[in-house]
Amino acid sequence: MMEELSAKKFKSDDHSEEMVIMVTGGRGLVGMGLKVEVERVPSDKERWIFLTSADGDLSDMAATRVLFEKHKPTHVIHLAAMVGGLFKNMKYKLDFLRKNLQINDCVLQCCYEYKVKKCISCLSTCIFPDKTTYPIDETMIHNGPPHDSNFGYAYAKRLIDIQNKAYHEQYGCHFTSVIPTNIFGPHDNYDLNDSHVIPGLIHKCYLAKKNGEPLTVLGTGNALRQFLYSKDLGKLLIWTLRNYEEIDPIILSVGEEDEVSIKEVARMIAEAMDFKGEVVHDTSKSDGQYKKTASNAKLKKYLPDFQFTPIKQAIQESVDWFVDNFEIARK
Ligand code: NAP
Ligand code: GDP
Repeated sequence: MMEELSAKKFKSDDHSEEMVIMVTGGRGLVGMGLKVEVERVPSDKERWIFLTSADGDLSDMAATRVLFEKHKPTHVIHLAAMVGGLFKNMKYKLDFLRKNLQINDCVLQCCYEYKVKKCISCLSTCIFPDKTTYPIDETMIHNGPPHDSNFGYAYAKRLIDIQNKAYHEQYGCHFTSVIPTNIFGPHDNYDLNDSHVIPGLIHKCYLAKKNGEPLTVLGTGNALRQFLYSKDLGKLLIWTLRNYEEIDPIILSVGEEDEVSIKEVARMIAEAMDFKGEVVHDTSKSDGQYKKTASNAKLKKYLPDFQFTPIKQAIQESVDWFVDNFEIARK
């Protein structure tokens, strides 16, 4: 259920009025990464509310209005979405499209009705065109169809950018968005079939080690990805809330030089789990989009000194979290 972090326990900062920040999807992977950071660098002018789906169904306009009426947020970080890895996206294209269109319409319309000063929504680098030049940047979202494997999710997410622009031009609303790459960390969804690649392989590796079996990586392992640790994203979301004033989106990503293959990621997971068994590839399964290499030049311009957690360390922390929390982890 909804959790509220009271302003009273926070230290002071330079905002003049109290901000009431409502986080949709506050118990998910990204929401929990954000919460860690909010607790680490508190401000006594900020009151944070982390919503879960148990507080209300954000795909229902009436239920969404009840939440806005109750909390009267001045700021919203909109994370709630139907989310999944490549194989879930391939199975439920219509559900991804409809559910996410519904959620985004309810949340953004309520942000307008309740005069929210700033709303930050979460897009993804997997919504970019399939046939494109690299690196991809923020101006290229609508330049061509997305990869066929996830077009339902991609079109729903692309429309957030259109909605933000329309709310801004018609009503002057300050609604913006961030574009993170493939995210992982504690509190992820570790489901064996529907999750993203890192949590899926962590769970599989845990079972392979326990049962003395090989670790099966789906696809060739040649696909390339930029991965983002949820705790780093938590820091960047707070920076976005406090400092980013554009309506246009901003890519939140490690550099192009930090792109890694799925094969390398599987090796890092096996090492972090101290798994000594065989790693095999099921090449009958899809690789999805070969790569989505994104530029973080815009982010670097704003935050030249931002330090991302090294991927090996972040994977080790995620593996340790999963092993320590096996009973309660989503899976
Ligand atoms: P997640 O762990 O699955 O969390 C999603 C959250 O949305 C959950 O807290 C869930 O609530 C909530 N939610 C879903 N449907 C809802 C509904 N109808 N009403 C109210 N709440 C609902 O996903 P995540 O990875 O943190 O994703 C957060 C955001 O980042 C999403 O917008 C996603 O598209 C974006 N993103 C994710 C990735 C990635 O690799 N994971 C990459 C790029 C962008 P419950 O917990 O109560 O079910
Ligand atoms: P994407 O980055 O949006 O494509 O989503 P994922 O996080 O699901 O990553 C998909 C990539 O990881 C594809 O190249 C898959 O072939 C590869 N992969 C390897 N093993 C797995 C697995 O167990 N689960 C998932 N989701 N992907 C896997």
